[in-house]
Amino acid sequence: MKCIVCESTDIEVAFHLENGPRYAQKLLDSPDDKGGDRMDVKLYKCCDCGMIQIDPDTLEHDEYFEDYLMSRSCTELYVQYDNELTDTLDEKYGLKGQNIVEVGCGDGFFGELLIQRGAAVSAIEPSATACALAEKRGVTCYNTFLNDTITDQVSDRFDGFVTKQVMDLIKDPNEFLASLGKILKPGAWGLIDVPSWTKTLLDMRYYDVLPDRVGYYTAKTLVEIMERNHFHVVEVFHGAEGEYVGAYVVYEGEKEGLLKRFNNEFEEFNDRFTSLMKEYSDAGKKVAAWGAGAKGVTIFSFSGMTPETIAYVVDKDDFKWNKYLPGSKLKVVSPDTVKEQPVDAVIITGVMFYKEITRQLVNDYGFSGDVILLSPMPRVLTREELDAVLKS
Ligand SMILES: [Zn+2]
Repeated sequence: MKCIVCESTDIEVAFHLENGPRYAQKLLDSPDDKGGDRMDVKLYKCCDCGMIQIDPDTLEHDEYFEDYLMSRSCTELYVQYDNELTDTLDEKYGLKGQNIVEVGCGDGFFGELLIQRGAAVSAIEPSATACALAEKRGVTCYNTFLNDTITDQVSDRFDGFVTKQVMDLIKDPNEFLASLGKILKPGAWGLIDVPSWTKTLLDMRYYDVLPDRVGYYTAKTLVEIMERNHFHVVEVFHGAEGEYVGAYVVYEGEKEGLLKRFNNEFEEFNDRFTSLMKEYSDAGKKVAAWGAGAKGVTIFSFSGMTPETIAYVVDKDDFKWNKYLPGSKLKVVSPDTVKEQPVDAVIITGVMFYKEITRQLVNDYGFSGDVILLSPMPRVLTREELDAVLKS
């Protein structure tokens, strides 16, 4: 047996539960139904990453999921938890107009919350019963499993994903997450949660050891498996009174996708910045910059700026006056220089403060030229934008 997270074979028995039920989350239609007998459950611990799991080969999952349905909307605690998650997602990523996939949507309760915030929601859901209910709530359902053939059925590439209380039931979570990646855009955000093993341990809940649960995750093992599959973990949380451990993540894309994008964007930034500066110098116009902080130092150095392209850098801190920026060797001077040696454009390096700096430039130093921002790409503020800033 291998660890389902890190694939180590260094595994030991952690807990032995005798006479457990075969299934814990579905009821039998008759006492003689398949799966009605008791069975022993062993939990194993991975000595390398600490993952707690059963032996996945002891489970026949596929038929189990086909009529699996866990309704989340029936208790106040879950409803409150799901509402909090929706609020957080909306705050972090802005749900309006987003195309989201939910893996394992159950009765569609959470999907409907996302739809109410203006998102479009599709779901991958192996249970036909669940699909029928979720469709009624406006979720577009693919009645199938998430595995490596998923792109044969789902052609969309989603902006975000949600998968709640699903991965703990998955025998091969690495395959699950790799398959999920295939239907996401690079940079897609995600929300995942699973029952918390920490809670089970703290509350000594032996009854939380369900024979149909494959993986028992902690914050550490959840982060481990997400990062292994190219999801950057942005934030880990414990929710619903500690019942679930969850994470907000961002998908790297194909191997090193975000890193490649970072490289490409860097080149594009430099190209655009250089050509913008060339436009000014070709027109015989002068450019200065505001802000000799770390951002300015870095950006002017790596984009190849020199005292020929940028006349000077002003800063309010008089300790910096008459010093030079490392790399670009631009000279730092007092803000009064804007009056004494007028320029046609000022680059504001601290994008966070561009509104207040723009107001100071115009109101205190009589500046009437172009204001240039550098984030995310170099650009000149339009007349309308300038007017709006001055009025604010
Ligand atoms: Zn492991």
